[in-house]
Amino acid sequence: MCPECALQFTEQVYLMVQNPDCPACREVASAAWKERWARLKVTSISEIPELAAAWADDADPRTVMVGDFGMRKFRCSAGHMPRISPSRFLDAGCPHCRGVRSQENKQWLADISPELAKQWHPTRNGRYTPANVVWDSKPGSVDRVGW
Ligand SMILES: [Zn+2]
Ligand SMILES: [Zn+2]
Repeated sequence: MCPECALQFTEQVYLMVQNPDCPACREVASAAWKERWARLKVTSISEIPELAAAWADDADPRTVMVGDFGMRKFRCSAGHMPRISPSRFLDAGCPHCRGVRSQENKQWLADISPELAKQWHPTRNGRYTPANVVWDSKPGSVDRVGW
């Protein structure tokens, strides 16, 4: 049962692990996403203060829409000058700063799931241990070493 909208539905467990949304909420989210996107297509950079402040592109920010796909130059508060699409900068911020943050915030399997860590095979995972594998690591990065 969905904790958000109380809809009861059936779904495979592994799909719920990957994407724990209910069908109704997913529908609502995708409608909201489409609506937001339609709005960004007609909203210029100059109308969004945080984008306007970071704008470092040659183009006039009043003529560039946030929903445009082209790469633009921005300058973040740390002085990086990434070239990314405006909507990406709006949603995710500076990719350089984010890279630094995600290194700091890595959540290791051993910390997140001691239960799972206990089941880790001591010799068949090569150099991987629960202390150096992130909890949401993709299978491809580990299965090479012989599962
Ligand atoms: Zn729901
Ligand atoms: Zn930055």
